[in-house]
Amino acid sequence: MSKATARAVFDPKGSFQTTSIERRELQPDDVLIEIKFAGICHSDIHTARGEWGQIQYPLVPGHEIAGVVAQVGSAVTKYAVGDRVGVGCMVDSCGECDSCKHGEEQYCSKGNTGTYASIDRYGQYTQGGYSTHIVVTENFVVRIPDNIPLDKAAPLLCAGITTYSPLRHWEVTPGQKVAVVGMGGLGHMAVKLAHAMGAHVTVLSQSLKKKEDGLRLGADDYYATSDPETFRTLKNSFDFIINTVSAKISVDAYLSLLAVDGTMVNVGAPPDPLSVNVFSLIGQRKSFAGSMIGGIRETQEMLDFCAEHDVTPEIEVIAASQIDEAWDRVLASDVRYRFVIDISTMEND
Ligand code: NAP
Ligand code: ZN
Repeated sequence: MSKATARAVFDPKGSFQTTSIERRELQPDDVLIEIKFAGICHSDIHTARGEWGQIQYPLVPGHEIAGVVAQVGSAVTKYAVGDRVGVGCMVDSCGECDSCKHGEEQYCSKGNTGTYASIDRYGQYTQGGYSTHIVVTENFVVRIPDNIPLDKAAPLLCAGITTYSPLRHWEVTPGQKVAVVGMGGLGHMAVKLAHAMGAHVTVLSQSLKKKEDGLRLGADDYYATSDPETFRTLKNSFDFIINTVSAKISVDAYLSLLAVDGTMVNVGAPPDPLSVNVFSLIGQRKSFAGSMIGGIRETQEMLDFCAEHDVTPEIEVIAASQIDEAWDRVLASDVRYRFVIDISTMEND
């Protein structure tokens, strides 16, 4: 066992406090990572506040982890001390089911082990990246390309892969019309990635407040969804819509914006159910789908794609003492566009 310093919440409504947690003793296939930066994802908030179901406290959130290998187990072959590495939303899976064999560990038939709020194969409750160190089996660690700074790499481990994976799965090609609903952490990555893949990108945001940013990040068009005219102007115009909104929206209104055979994919995970009128789908053979993060192999592919195409998130680096404030701003849609915790500030609180 080793100790790590962490920021944890102790109940669904509580604020963050510094605490000490135990990381497991290094197993032969384990890597000990000294965490340098951790991104703040809206899923951290949904989970910690019990919005997706009851969890155990204290909880250390954080599944956008970037750091440096500090120690390796005796059987580790892929990483060495000093390597720049990342860990995303999962830290283990069964390794034997069809999904795992196909490199889609996120869809493991036995359920993947989440980076936090899960029980790992040793029976321990997992704690995430708002902490100084983490121990992870080497198969769930990815390599951060040299030209991506660690603070900017962190959000790629969730916001990046969660938007990259559906763009690839539904084979978005150059010239296709893609709409991104919500321009927060995931949304702004979807804009950058879809643009880098050659798509024609439209942002559908609640207001025009972030329009200049959207166009600078690679969007071709930007519309306010608070304006009913938007839904008339854009009717039947998109091949693909990615919905990143963390709250309940009218799915039917957005489905009306798809062209024949178009697909709308929900990556946003609001706690309340969304309803769909089947007539929004059957009239023009439209699809409504979901997608969850991406596999480890695809996460590495995404990082390499970002390195090659110079795609990195827009971040605001904060101290560990500012997490509560940052969460309030995420909830107010006032994130530009991902908060990243500088873990070196953790010990000083
Ligand atoms: P975020 O930074 O808070 O972005 C969400 C954006 O949605 C906001 O910036 C805002 O954009 C829009 N929005 C918020 N409330 C809204 C409302 N009431 N009506 C309409 N639009 C609203 O959150 P995130 O970290 O990107 O995460 C987004 C969602 O994806 C969360 O539910 C999260 O849990 C989920 N998620 C899913 C996966 C997965 O694997 N599927 C992975 C990570 C996260 P505008 O201001 O531009 O309107
Ligand atoms: Zn996330």
